[in-house]
Amino acid sequence: MYFDHNATTPLSAAAQAAWIETSEHFWHNPSSLYPAAGAAARRLEEAREQLADLLGAGDGGDIVFTSGATEANNALLAHIASRSPSGRCAVASIEHPSVLAPARHHFAKRTVEIEAGVDGLVDTAHLRHLLGSGDIAVVSVLAANNETGVIQPVAKIAELCAANGVHFHCDAAQWIGKIPGAPDADTLVGSAHKFGGPKGVGFVKLGPLGKDFVLQVGGPQEHRRRAGTQDLAGVAAMVAALANTQNWSGQAPMRDRFEDHLAKRLPGLVIAGRDVSRLPNTSMLVVPAGKNLKWLTRLGHLDFSISTGSACSSGAESGSHVLAAMEFPARHIARALRISSGPDTSADDWRALENAMAEVSMELLDGDNHPRAGAKIDLRAL
Ligand code: PMP
Repeated sequence: MYFDHNATTPLSAAAQAAWIETSEHFWHNPSSLYPAAGAAARRLEEAREQLADLLGAGDGGDIVFTSGATEANNALLAHIASRSPSGRCAVASIEHPSVLAPARHHFAKRTVEIEAGVDGLVDTAHLRHLLGSGDIAVVSVLAANNETGVIQPVAKIAELCAANGVHFHCDAAQWIGKIPGAPDADTLVGSAHKFGGPKGVGFVKLGPLGKDFVLQVGGPQEHRRRAGTQDLAGVAAMVAALANTQNWSGQAPMRDRFEDHLAKRLPGLVIAGRDVSRLPNTSMLVVPAGKNLKWLTRLGHLDFSISTGSACSSGAESGSHVLAAMEFPARHIARALRISSGPDTSADDWRALENAMAEVSMELLDGDNHPRAGAKIDLRAL
């Protein structure tokens, strides 16, 4: 049972149909000059307009297709850093690594982190204070956090940035497709594989940077903003996935019930961001006993796919920087598990996960004395 949809989602039926149809009938290079290529180019521009409509954000001319959110975040921060050699970059401490790393790379010591509260929300009072310095060139805050699911106060952040004449960039990779519409930001990034589209496709909405923002040079594709032959099938599949949005909101009551039940069965369980608005599918748990990797392996053997946090930071020794920014102690971070369901996850699936977690908890508390411990998994190997 797959509970790791914030890492990636399976291809939706609509996306698959669009991918096949486009690959069969519009496979020519959209930049070539014969009629079949013209048809592919038109299909690409239709997809661009449709995406702009779905986002409720400007016209299609504002959108550049990319290989995903990481590329778009990198290109955007590199561009702004090159335009403002002395300006600072204010980035949320709970940002995704695809924003934090390019911010630190391109702005180096001119990067400043916006603090987050214990609830997982970016501290807008701290942002207001930073903006008061007058030397912030760009503010980057993600729309919804990939680990806790906490939805950020993007409207307030947009208002503060606008009042100070500062560019607001928003990584909306976890929001787009799960919540209708798009957050209001100067530049916005999304990624198809987070909402039933294929991997390796995404977009950036350029907003005020539209005139001179070039992601990569070479051929004249993407109206000279990103060179390279476009992945029309991928783009069509992404737009079809978004146009046929699945029912993510239906997950919230099941997720809440799961958390309520689990909190009763696992005394001491901590649920990150529980008191604020979260993505409907996400639950970041700090389990009362046992390292998270033990849980991951145990639950994996019971056929549950979950995660310890961002897939992009798996392998990182230090654990979740998001929980660290929320001032969770190291012993909690070592016991953090991220559960993220999908639109097809049923109440039975949630109940099965609850039961499996209660069972693993008993085994870990009992250690090797438990009759089932070690039967399938050698915990000592971990
Ligand atoms: N931003 C956020 C908030 C994400 O969750 C992810 C995926 N983990 C990314 C960016 C990276 O997206 P992509 O895989 O499209 O590069």
